[in-house]
Amino acid sequence: ENGRWDSIWLAGVRDKEPETLFDKIISGEIPATIVKEDDKMMAFKDINPAAPAHVLVIPKDRNGLTRLSKATKEQSEMLGHLMLTAGEIAADESLGFGNGARIVVNDGKSAGQEVFHLHIHVLGGREFTWPPG
Ligand code: C5P
Repeated sequence: ENGRWDSIWLAGVRDKEPETLFDKIISGEIPATIVKEDDKMMAFKDINPAAPAHVLVIPKDRNGLTRLSKATKEQSEMLGHLMLTAGEIAADESLGFGNGARIVVNDGKSAGQEVFHLHIHVLGGREFTWPPG
C-alpha cells in the first residue's frame, strides 16, 4: 500500500504541468476511437489524421512525461512498451497499416508538438518523403 501512495505523491511532485486533452480521452470525458488499450497505455485514432491511417500511442500515467526529452531511466520499461505497441499497430492491416509506417515523436513546440502529454504518432496508408517537413 505504502508504495502505491508514495508513487502517487511522487507523480504529483514531478508533474506540475497542467492536464491536457489526452487526460480527458483517458478518462472517457472526450470520446476517441480506441484501437488498443491496457493498464499502462492507450492507442486511439488521431482526430485530424495526417495519413489514411494515423494512431496515437500514449501512456495513461503521464508522470512528468510532457515530452520525450523529459524521460528518465525509471520510465524505460514504459517507453519500451509504448514503442512495441507502436510497432504492433504499424503491422495491423485491419487499421490500414501493413505496408510501411512513419513512427514519429514531436518533441517540443518547434518540432510541432501541440499536446504536452508524450505521444507516439503511427502513420500509414500512403507513401512518405524524407526529410520530413
Ligand atoms: O505531436 P502533436 O502534439 O502535434 O500531436 C497532437 C495530435 O493530437 C495531433 O495530431 C492532433 O490531431 C491530435 N488530437 C487528437 N484528438 C484531440 C486533440 C488532438 O487526436 N482531441
